[in-house]
Amino acid sequence: MSAKRLFIKGLQIGGGAPVRVESMLKIPLSLREECLAQCIALHGAGCELLRAAFPSLDLREDLKWLNERSPIPLMADIHFDGALALAALEAGIPSIRINPGNMSSSRLRDIVASAKGENAVLRIGANGGSLSSTQLKAAGGVRSDALAAAVEDQLHILLTEGFEDIILSAKSTSVMETVRANTLLASKYPDFPLHIGITESGYGRDGLVKSAAGLSLLLAQGIGDTLRISLTEKPEEEVLAGYSLLRALDLRFHGVTIVSCPTCGRRRIDVRAILEKLEPSFVDLPDALTVAVMGCEVNGPREAMDADFGVAGSPGGAVIFKKGKVLREVTLEELPRVFDEFARSSGEKRPNNTCGHSKGE
Ligand code: SF4
Repeated sequence: MSAKRLFIKGLQIGGGAPVRVESMLKIPLSLREECLAQCIALHGAGCELLRAAFPSLDLREDLKWLNERSPIPLMADIHFDGALALAALEAGIPSIRINPGNMSSSRLRDIVASAKGENAVLRIGANGGSLSSTQLKAAGGVRSDALAAAVEDQLHILLTEGFEDIILSAKSTSVMETVRANTLLASKYPDFPLHIGITESGYGRDGLVKSAAGLSLLLAQGIGDTLRISLTEKPEEEVLAGYSLLRALDLRFHGVTIVSCPTCGRRRIDVRAILEKLEPSFVDLPDALTVAVMGCEVNGPREAMDADFGVAGSPGGAVIFKKGKVLREVTLEELPRVFDEFARSSGEKRPNNTCGHSKGE
């Protein structure tokens, strides 16, 4: 994690802050109310920073309108157009994704002056798909080196202009290219926060595994200050997947950890169906709670004895257990109600729209 501490509208990034979970608005800014509804839904899921594509000056008022109402700090993605960066900063957007290598120096100087005046953060970065043949040649054909070098070039441009509130990002659809480029950047520039992600990682199972594989390799080395699990899914799925990953690595504890068995010939209940039935009870449970759903009472409570509480299939329906100790047996009809009562007595409800906390946060 980076040494430097940045703030985007009060959200600390780097400098010991928990790894932040990001997503991106997936609808055009012109659909104001739909954008705001998506922001609110994402906030409920725990999203902490939200990127929004800002492709045209015509959308300036829409961006401003959303920024004034969004419960999540926004980052405007202006691609290569410096005029859009200036418009976004004027609209009060607290962070901008730019590519300083594609702007004239006078335009860049204006952006830097405006960003300083507004206390805005600039995210710079390169994407494996947009590396030029010149950049690749200079890196001896090693794509990860070329990716890191492309980010370095942008960083030096901003540092030369006297601007340091910078988040770096190097992304590719290749897991190993992304991992190597980010490892290189983190070792050379430990001061600057890194945004990590596998770009266009796909959808469903493959997309999740690809993102998790790449980001785990980085997070396990302590690399990454903000992340996005980029998926061809609803943006809430990206956020929930981000927290699942951070929970799996013991980095953050937003939401309930589920333990469930794969089932085998001993199973007495349809574990998957029971999980789906009980899932609504999980939403309001305190962060960091571990809940188990196991197929049988013979091995379930023992195998899941680290869980705070759980259920396991039994001859009469299901047993409810706590830290491996069976407390009572209920019928499957009674299970959702009893489970809900049990869950509620297991701790304070998590208030809506709050983010989880890391250990020591
Ligand atoms: S808990 Fe029971 S049903 Fe589930 S895998 Fe273990 S033995 Fe099989």
